[in-house]
Amino acid sequence: MSLISDIKKYETVSRRLEPGAADRRASREKVVAYTEDFLERIGEIPTFVGSHDGGIGLLTDPIGEEPANLDALLELVRHNVDRPGLNPASGGHLGYIPGGGLYHSALGDYMAAIANRFAGVNFGSPGAVRMENMLLDWMRDVVGYPAGTAGNLTSGGSIANLIGIVAARDESGIRAADFARSVIYLTEQAHHSVDKAIRIAGLGEAVLRYVATDDRHRMSAEHLEQSILADKETGLIPLMVISAAGTTDAGAVDPLAAIGDIAAHHGIWHHVDGAYGAFFALCDEGKDVLTGMDKSDSLVMDPHKGLFLPYGTGAVLVKNRSRLLESFHYQANYMQDAIRDEGSPSPADLSPELTKHFRGLRLWLPLKLHGLAPFRAALSEKILLARYFHARLQEMEGFEVGPFPDLSLVTYRYIPRRGDPDAFNERLIAEIHKDGRVFLSSTMLRGRFTLRLAVLSFRTHLDTIDLTLEILKEKAKMIEKSF
Ligand SMILES: *Cc1c(COP(=O)(O)O)cnc(C)c1O
Repeated sequence: MSLISDIKKYETVSRRLEPGAADRRASREKVVAYTEDFLERIGEIPTFVGSHDGGIGLLTDPIGEEPANLDALLELVRHNVDRPGLNPASGGHLGYIPGGGLYHSALGDYMAAIANRFAGVNFGSPGAVRMENMLLDWMRDVVGYPAGTAGNLTSGGSIANLIGIVAARDESGIRAADFARSVIYLTEQAHHSVDKAIRIAGLGEAVLRYVATDDRHRMSAEHLEQSILADKETGLIPLMVISAAGTTDAGAVDPLAAIGDIAAHHGIWHHVDGAYGAFFALCDEGKDVLTGMDKSDSLVMDPHKGLFLPYGTGAVLVKNRSRLLESFHYQANYMQDAIRDEGSPSPADLSPELTKHFRGLRLWLPLKLHGLAPFRAALSEKILLARYFHARLQEMEGFEVGPFPDLSLVTYRYIPRRGDPDAFNERLIAEIHKDGRVFLSSTMLRGRFTLRLAVLSFRTHLDTIDLTLEILKEKAKMIEKSF
C-alpha cells in the first residue's frame, strides 16, 4: 500500500512536467511574442555587443527546486543571451562565415521536438529517415554526385569533415603501423576542423603535406602532383587530398577539377571541404567556379551556412555508399529489433551518432514552402554583393583590396599614409566592433593583418553593404587623424 501511495505522491509532482492546453497556449504566446519582438527589431539591434560579463546574470539565478516565472526567464534570456556578443541572425553579420536562421526552420524544429521522432534508425521512424535521405539525395543531385552516394545530416561541417576523413582512411586500407608513413595533402588555408578531424581519426602522426598556394590562396595543382610523386619516391603512402570549395579565410575555391584528376590518377581519396561554398552550386554564378567538385570522393556542405538554416545542420556526402556503411555501421544486441533493411539506410549506420536531433524537418519545411527559386536568388545576390563591395572599395581612398572574389568573400586592408598598416587595421577592426552596426572580422594572410567581408546571411542586402562601406570610410578617416 505504501508503495502505491509513494508512487501517487511522486506522480502529483511529476505531472507538472506535462502542462495542459491552457498552460501551453499561455507559454507559447509569450515565447512567440518574444521572438516576434526580436524579429521586428532585427534591423536595429546591434550586430555585435562586446562584453566581458555577458551572461553573468544567469549565474545569479541558479537552477533550483521551485518553478520560475516565464516572463522573468524571457527577460533573463533577452539580457544575458540574446544581447551580448555576436548576433548571427542579423544581416549585418559579415564576419567569419555568417549564419542564417530561416523562420520556417524554427517551426520545423518545434514540430520535430514535440513529436520527438527517433531519426537515427529506419525502424524507429521510417518517415523521418526517408525525409533525411531524400534531402541528401537532393544535395547529391545539386552537386552532381551519382546514384549510390550515401550521406548524413550532421551537426555541422566539423563532424561532416570527420566522417569524410575517416571514410578516406578506411578506404585506403592502411593500418595503424602505416600511419606515420601516410601523407595527407592540404593547404595552410584548410579549416581548423580538418586538422582536428585528422587527429580524432587517429591520424595525428600522419605527414601533413602543405601544398603551395597561388596568389589567390588556391592550392597549386602542379605542386600537389610534384609532392605526390616525391612522396611515392621516398616510400611514403599518399593517403588523401583535402581541398576547399571556398576557404574560410579568403573564400578561395581550389582548382577542384585538376585536383580530382590528379587524385584519381594516383588512386588517392579526394575530400572536398565545401562547408562554406558547396551550396553555391545552386546558382549560375557559383556553378562555374565549382566545376569539378563532382569528381571528388567525399564532400562537406553546411546547410546552416549556404542554405541559411539556424545552426545545427551540416552534411557529408560519400560517393561509395558501402564504404560509409563499413566505417560507421553499428551492432548492438539491444538493437536487434531495428533490422537494417535494404531501403532507406539508417543515419546511425552512416555516422558516429545514434540518437540525434531530427535535422530533416528544419531543412525540408523551408525548402518546400519557399521553393528553390529564392534560395538560388539569395546565393546569386551574395556573390554579386561581394563583387559590388570589391568594386566600390577599390574606389575608396586608402583601401587595398584582395583578389576578385571566387564566391562571396572579399579580403582587404587599409594602407595608412604613415605608420604600420597592421596596427592601423587592428585599430580599424576594433572600432568597427565597438560601433556594432555591422560585424566584420580579420585574419592573417601571408603574414599581414587583413580584413574580411563575408556575405552569406539571407538578411544581407545592398543597403547593408552600402552601410558597411560608409562605416569603413568613416572609421578609417577618424583613425587617420590620430595615427
Ligand atoms: C564553417 C566551416 C567548417 C566547420 O563547419 P562547422 O559547421 O562550423 O562545424 C569547416 N570548413 C569550412 C571551410 C568552413 O567554412
